[in-house]
Amino acid sequence: MAAKSGVALVADPSPEAAGKKKKYYRKNVEFFKLLEKIKLWPSRSGMLHGIKSIKITGDIAEVVTHCDEKFIVWNSRTSRAARWLRNKWCVCACKKCKIPAWKLEKYTSTMMTQKWGSNL
Ligand SMILES: [Zn+2]
Repeated sequence: MAAKSGVALVADPSPEAAGKKKKYYRKNVEFFKLLEKIKLWPSRSGMLHGIKSIKITGDIAEVVTHCDEKFIVWNSRTSRAARWLRNKWCVCACKKCKIPAWKLEKYTSTMMTQKWGSNL
């Protein structure tokens, strides 16, 4: 019952949160949901990291990468990371995170673009 503390995974929102401010929650959740789904995080340097865990609280999320970096992400569809993920501006994958090839492939093929993938 992780949903009780208010720290809930997107996949399992508490009934109160969903009912009380559903619209707000849903709107906020999109970017995080994307992160949770693809489990990839683009760093400032253009490196893709694998997400080990993501803990969402309201409109912030605590992300831990496989290379043990921990940081707070503010939910924003217009944030750098959101744009990077959508546009696939990431140049390489973090070696420490050991992102499996299939995951990268899935990422490149799922999301629309010509930019990434063509140069691989
Ligand atoms: Zn990494």
